[in-house]
Amino acid sequence: MHDILIIGAGPVGLACAIEAKHHDLTACVIEKGALVNSIVGYPANMEFFSTPELIEIGGYPFPVHGYKPTREEAIEYYRGVAQREALDIRLYDRVRTVAGERGGFTISTDKGEHTARTIVVATGFFDQPNALDVPGADLPKVTHYYREPYPYIRQRVAVIGAKNSAAKAALDCYRHGAEVSLIVRSATLSDSIKYWIRPDLENRIKEGSIRAHFNTTVEEIRPASLLVSGADGTHEIENDWVLAMTGYRPDFPFLEAIGVTFADDGFRTPVFDETTFETARRGVYIAGTVCGGYRTNRWFIENGRFHAQQITRHIAGERTERIHFDTMHWKTEE
Ligand code: NAP
Repeated sequence: MHDILIIGAGPVGLACAIEAKHHDLTACVIEKGALVNSIVGYPANMEFFSTPELIEIGGYPFPVHGYKPTREEAIEYYRGVAQREALDIRLYDRVRTVAGERGGFTISTDKGEHTARTIVVATGFFDQPNALDVPGADLPKVTHYYREPYPYIRQRVAVIGAKNSAAKAALDCYRHGAEVSLIVRSATLSDSIKYWIRPDLENRIKEGSIRAHFNTTVEEIRPASLLVSGADGTHEIENDWVLAMTGYRPDFPFLEAIGVTFADDGFRTPVFDETTFETARRGVYIAGTVCGGYRTNRWFIENGRFHAQQITRHIAGERTERIHFDTMHWKTEE
């Protein structure tokens, strides 16, 4: 029987597995996709907003070529750390059910069955995009995952959203020969767009290189056009591709199925002990982004990696003090 079964092999899940080793606990990580699956799904050559020391795990230094890590450097870093620590990680295996209670859980996966004393859920949020919920949203020309600009050269691309993913995808596509429309349901671009990205986008909009439609919602996606409605009524835009950069959310049905409960606070924040990260189902802990519910910007690698220490100390029976995350300086370059 494992001391801890960790669901999710992202940076936070890996940090939990390393902390478990440091506490002489056995840990097994089950991941439904690739190692650091979310990072693998990020755009090619994406540069992290965080500087490397803020996303290091296990005390391993993260040397990078430039100032901030790229997607590729991060994948290599986490791969190297997992290898050096000889972590027990099972990839491409999905957890289906969790039966039992603290001290004796049985976890069924697509590939078999495990027993564990405790469970840590570190499943992130990148696999569940916020749906558009309009006719045509499931057409093959619609994606919630931007990878690279090359499929969109000389194509009419609509980017939906007003935050960082939308800003970066719109600029990248424009710079690689796409005709870009930015469709924003609010009156302005979001203040959360990073300060080194926002003026670039504003200037491209001002000069007309990127056509922005503010206060505009998509009503229908058609094979060769979009029906949008804004202040001047409803009209049709010719369109080949839709990059729906509408954000992501934790896998609520999965969390519910394994016994996590939620606060009635409008954010579906999971109920958990803020010192130990144990949920209302005793022996089941949550770590990283899932802790924020719909507020996916509350916890990320920089602060989520500290959940690992709190959780493993509690499982190891050590005294745990609450960390006041709000006073930590984890965010560079706001
Ligand atoms: P996000 O911050 O959740 O933003 C989603 C955007 O989509 C918002 O503008 C939202 O509008 C809009 N939206 C949501 N549902 C919509 C709908 N049905 N119709 C129209 N618009 C809709 O998502 P994100 O930009 O993908 O960012 C996710 C995380 O990744 C963030 O933490 C971000 O900082 C990070 N990120 C990092 C990088 C990097 O290079 N390192 C790049 C991009 C993103 P409202 O504001 O009106 O709700």
